[in-house]
Amino acid sequence: MPSAPNLNVDLHCHSTVSDGVLEPHALARRAHANGVQMWALTDHDEVSGLPQAGQVARELGMQFVPGIEISVTWSGKTVHIVGLGIDAGHAALNQGLVEIRTGRVERARKIADRLRDLGVPDSYEGALAYAGNPLLISRTHFARFMVERGYCKTMQAVFDKYLGDHKPANVSGSWAKLANALAWIHDSGGRAVIAHPGRYNYTPVQFGALFDEFKQLGGEAIEVITGSHSVDQYRQYADVARRYGFMASCGSDFHSPGESRKDLGSLPLLPADLRAVWHDWV
Ligand code: AMP
Ligand code: MN
Ligand code: MN
Ligand code: MN
Repeated sequence: MPSAPNLNVDLHCHSTVSDGVLEPHALARRAHANGVQMWALTDHDEVSGLPQAGQVARELGMQFVPGIEISVTWSGKTVHIVGLGIDAGHAALNQGLVEIRTGRVERARKIADRLRDLGVPDSYEGALAYAGNPLLISRTHFARFMVERGYCKTMQAVFDKYLGDHKPANVSGSWAKLANALAWIHDSGGRAVIAHPGRYNYTPVQFGALFDEFKQLGGEAIEVITGSHSVDQYRQYADVARRYGFMASCGSDFHSPGESRKDLGSLPLLPADLRAVWHDWV
């Protein structure tokens, strides 16, 4: 089994194109300044930041991997599937992403209605002011607005009280089907990665079914090292990668200097026995 090279690799982060606060060019500069050698931008459900990110990354001498993080509904809950090495111009991928984004506007209206009933007026407009793209409005933008207005002290507190799963202002999205997300990623030349598996609230039986189905659909990898995982979860999902024969990925999921647990390029290396999802891209 080839071991992961000793590269500083960061294959998951967000720009103003989705719910990050830095523009793609600024993210590229931050990644480079932090020592990243291979870098992917993976905005939620949108690829329009990739040309700028790729150009600046290559000018700085980083290896750039075009990416995406697709919102999927699986067994009634949201799962994020990262696509790496995709072709951003691929027609079916782009059509699929348009459909996911369309659902976000109506959902945001419903979230704002719930928040109004909970004593938080005008949050649609408030969230919109934080959204770089009015069609890609996410819970993160609502949370930033609510921290700004003093409803909560931190983003985490907003999710804990209002917007997290099963909290009163959460409205589940109706996202892509797992099979479709994988087909778009594969047809556009990419590899599919289950993002931050430690964040999903599934039973062990459901996790087994998710990993089985993902594998059957040709899914290649899971995130083992991510800003969303504890050190125990690094070990837990390294074991999942070994058991299912998945390649392993690594990404900070950086959104903002003030909010994110892990900065770009600040992650530990993958366990050496795992095959890295980028092993043949170096
Ligand atoms: P959405 O796609 O609108 O459902 O929003 C999901 C986004 O909310 C994720 O990509 C994260 O950036 C953010 N998020 C989810 N849970 C939390 C949390 N507990 N704390 C902070 N941000 C969160
Ligand atoms: Mn996000
Ligand atoms: Mn995610
Ligand atoms: Mn992410």
